[in-house]
Amino acid sequence: MSSKFVIFLGPPGVGKGTQCQRISENYGLPHVSTGDIIRAAIKDHTPLGKEFTHYVDSGELVPDQMVVDMVAERLQQQDCSGGCLLDGFPRTVGQAEALERYFEENGKSIAGVIEIAVSEDELRRRLIERGQKEGRSDDTPETIAARLQVYKSETAPLIDFYNQRSLLHQVDGLGTPDEVFDRITTTIDSFRP
Ligand code: AMP
Repeated sequence: MSSKFVIFLGPPGVGKGTQCQRISENYGLPHVSTGDIIRAAIKDHTPLGKEFTHYVDSGELVPDQMVVDMVAERLQQQDCSGGCLLDGFPRTVGQAEALERYFEENGKSIAGVIEIAVSEDELRRRLIERGQKEGRSDDTPETIAARLQVYKSETAPLIDFYNQRSLLHQVDGLGTPDEVFDRITTTIDSFRP
């Protein structure tokens, strides 16, 4: 692959974060997670962090422009010059269009989009388990329901968006983390050079 920008798509709790960490080590590509950047801003009490808290705690999306600016700034850093893994971004068609423009303006392109898929029951189970283990403020049953709903209405349309651009690759997210990891690396290795 000449450009190594890989987008990970999939509902909350599907395992994007866990897989991205391993894929990042495997390919030496930075893992850019908007959720992690947002949580860090909240924890550090930055001015933006204060604005983010309300959205994250209610399971809503942060407004597009805020996230787009944040990602553009991150992509301009030296370690992303050869590519990166985008985890949790884009999350709306507006964000995907902004990313497309950004890449066009900067002479870069998306190598592929990996959609990790599992059933809704399995998702709920994993999210509740993560909430108990990690104590994330947005892994409560009410917020989980809101986030799954937001995924369906705002983010799932990206599956079609990237399918139309022949960039979409679906990967089954059921099975052990090792099995899913193997499916993802096989997919990434199949991207056109
Ligand atoms: P995540 O860890 O990716 O599930 O993100 C946690 C929360 O951060 C989400 O529920 C949103 O409130 C916010 N967030 C993360 N990424 C985005 C994004 N691309 N657009 C808008 N909000 C986001």
